[in-house]
Amino acid sequence: MVLPRWWRKRIPRYRLIGARCRSCGRIHYPPRNACPYCGSTELEEVQLPRTGVLESYTVVYSVPGDSRLHAPVLVGLVKLDNGVRLVAELTDASPEELKTGMRVEAAMRRIREDGDTGTIMYGIKFRPVLGKS
Ligand SMILES: [Zn+2]
Repeated sequence: MVLPRWWRKRIPRYRLIGARCRSCGRIHYPPRNACPYCGSTELEEVQLPRTGVLESYTVVYSVPGDSRLHAPVLVGLVKLDNGVRLVAELTDASPEELKTGMRVEAAMRRIREDGDTGTIMYGIKFRPVLGKS
């Protein structure tokens, strides 16, 4: 079995670390070996803000593999407070509770469980910030 790419990069995901390009200054997430905008490999790690705004979301009822146990899955496009956009799973909310423009924050949640080894993988999900909208 080949470990998925994101698993090898679990530390940056765990800590919500992005990469800033020293050439063009843009920040991307998750970190890649080369800047997706200009191709530069001069990158540095940056801590991303843990809060942002939910720009859009979708409800996924058909999920491949083990994750179907948790369907439906809510997937959101989150614009972090520094302007970086990322797609992440949403948690602690039902589809009815979500609305675009609401404040969300990063939370550590179980992403999936490997059926063969029982390994539980954690990662960043986003949840609504309670008390604000
Ligand atoms: Zn760049």
